Amino acid sequence: TDLKLFITGPTYIRPEVRQAGCLPEFGHRDSEAVKRFGSIFTNLATLAGLPEDSDYKVAVINGSGTCAMETAVRSLAGPDDTVLSVSIGAFGDLFHKLAVLNGKRTEALHYEPGQAMDLASLERALDEVKPSLVLLTHNETSTGVTNDVAAAVALVHSRGALAAVDGVSIFGGAPLDLPTMQPDIYLTATQKSLGLPAGFGLAFAGPKAVAKAETVPNKGWITDLTAHLGRAAKLQTLTTPNTSLANQMAVQLDYIINEEGMEKRFARHIAMRDRVHEFVNNLDGFELFAPEGYRSPTVTCVQVPEPLKTVQLKAIKETMRDKGYLFDPGYGKLNTAMEGAGKQPVFRIGHMGDTSMAMVDAFLATLGPVLKEASAG
Ligand code: PMP
Repeated sequence: TDLKLFITGPTYIRPEVRQAGCLPEFGHRDSEAVKRFGSIFTNLATLAGLPEDSDYKVAVINGSGTCAMETAVRSLAGPDDTVLSVSIGAFGDLFHKLAVLNGKRTEALHYEPGQAMDLASLERALDEVKPSLVLLTHNETSTGVTNDVAAAVALVHSRGALAAVDGVSIFGGAPLDLPTMQPDIYLTATQKSLGLPAGFGLAFAGPKAVAKAETVPNKGWITDLTAHLGRAAKLQTLTTPNTSLANQMAVQLDYIINEEGMEKRFARHIAMRDRVHEFVNNLDGFELFAPEGYRSPTVTCVQVPEPLKTVQLKAIKETMRDKGYLFDPGYGKLNTAMEGAGKQPVFRIGHMGDTSMAMVDAFLATLGPVLKEASAG
């Protein structure tokens, strides 16, 4: 079944991109690879706001976003370093877990689900923990909250630490200006706002991260940033890439930059978000979970009224599935924790990538009556 995806990734893939998956395979150490990856690297840098003479280096890493995040954790903290993970939800917790599981000395700064990080508590944690690496989330997919990462990175730098930013669920769906934000490493993946299948993690590494990685021992191999960048310098990947995905990516990045255009793409994301917000605001008792000013352009998280609980949301998900649509009936663990604390659960709508306004409208027109009927008891 060709379900229409309103989950938070993977997301709708354009027919041209599906077809590009049928293009011929190529040798990954051949000039054909350099041709494909040459345009991929250039276009990724453009999407990240990097000028041609930028000192950021881009790596395409086999695996998914988590592989890029694990590469950062393995490569940017050595045995004498302390990591501070800043979590506002499930994916901040994932970043924390990656540091712990890789044996890094790690402290956590935690916020309640639905909150954005605030600079005052971050400043206190920096002074207490004295980390050399800080893990930040740009767009927390479990709660629909976008952090003010640029301000946090500036604070992290004022204390001499490096900043690693998880941008998995926003890259390609919102303007990004790495030279202004100045993260030491920015990590993302293909299957969200880029409108591609999953399969590559992407890393943008600044000069301090590049230098640090060269000094860190025990980076493994497929999580060694230095090794990835060595291959990237030859416009290749460290290990054998999925050539079908590389073909799709070359086609899709060219479309994003040269056909749709970045400005139009980013404006479309905001327009889709606003349309979803309007829908939520017109539903009795339903509330946007993220605080104003921090609402994600790619994911909307909605807190539901009584009598709805997660069990009803799961039933609503199945009803919508029967009608041809897939959405997320909340982030499992988050809903369990909130219900345990006597709070109402959430569901999430992904509005990213190449999803169009017409597709959003059709989805909402189907979801509205289903939600109204369920919440009427
Ligand atoms: N971080 C964020 C913010 C995410 O949304 C996701 C995927 N939902 C991940 C990390 C993990 O990425 P992947 O599934 O590509 O490994």
